Amino acid sequence: MLEQFTDKLRGKRILVTGGAGFLGSHLCGRLLAHGAKVICFDDLSTGTRENINEYLGRDEFAFVTGDANKFADLSNVFDAEKIDYVFHYAARVGVKRTTEQPLEVLEDVEGIKNVLHLSNKHNVEKVIFSSSSEVYGEPVEFPERENGHVNPKLPYASVKHIGEKFMESYHKVHGLRTCSLRFFNIYGPKQDSSAYGFVVGIFIKQALSGGPLTVLGDGTQTRDFVFVDDNINSSILALLTNATDGHVVNIGTGRPMTILDMAELVIKVTGKDVKIEFLPFREGEIRHRFPDVSKMRSLLGYRPMHTIEEGVRKTMEWYQGRLS
Ligand code: UDP
Repeated sequence: MLEQFTDKLRGKRILVTGGAGFLGSHLCGRLLAHGAKVICFDDLSTGTRENINEYLGRDEFAFVTGDANKFADLSNVFDAEKIDYVFHYAARVGVKRTTEQPLEVLEDVEGIKNVLHLSNKHNVEKVIFSSSSEVYGEPVEFPERENGHVNPKLPYASVKHIGEKFMESYHKVHGLRTCSLRFFNIYGPKQDSSAYGFVVGIFIKQALSGGPLTVLGDGTQTRDFVFVDDNINSSILALLTNATDGHVVNIGTGRPMTILDMAELVIKVTGKDVKIEFLPFREGEIRHRFPDVSKMRSLLGYRPMHTIEEGVRKTMEWYQGRLS
């Protein structure tokens, strides 16, 4: 299914903003593997050269340092060569970081404006925007549906919601093909887990270094975890599927799990004899995430392929390589 589509990427010039980040760098790698020419654009604020090291020096890969929120930085890229597709993934990420820096997060609206303006002007074929399950805020109904209630509270979530709305209106008003993807919790190799969040990596690092695993609250809160490769399969299919034009699509597994179960799974997969320590919840903790993934399934014909155990194992292997 995916193979028949991805042939369409061969020779395409694809701009990935935030391309040196966790998700962006995985995406760059995959696009290169499908024969695309990739322009990775990143200001290296949270992205790293290490993430893209393996692609540097390849003819089909160009790295441009720049800030998507600065019009001149981004317009240089569009002026330099014809861009066929854009993945706009540059953003300030991590709940803690974005709550600490609310006004900096708001500047990301500039990046969204710049991407839309330039993509429209330069006749880009399609723009994919990385939105987030944070748009649902504290959900008022389950499962969380794209056309159901949204409740963005954090500055980060408000910016994502504005982005979705602008993607939608550029499609309606200018005919620019756009699609916003509401990503649920992504995990995998290269994710920078720290005090700023991303629990799977936090648990794996804690387990590998002797524990304890810090479960916040009683661990009954739930999240829908998607392994990074599955997230990328969905994003590429969303790009290449006309039916997603002008839409917002949840990207999740539809099978949330509790954080305590995740902690126990990490202990099992790592095989370490470590304890779990219960700590207080973070302020503003969202108790549950549970996406309705029927739109993803019907429009993309896709279901995540990795079991949670396979995904955690692959992530652990990456951390083992780093910590050894
Ligand atoms: N979490 C935890 N221990 C940690 C860090 C996070 O139990 O050391 C929990 C957190 O309370 C939340 C879940 O893991 O319920 C996911 O947190 P993360 O920061 O990965 O993502 P988000 O809260 O943005 O969904």
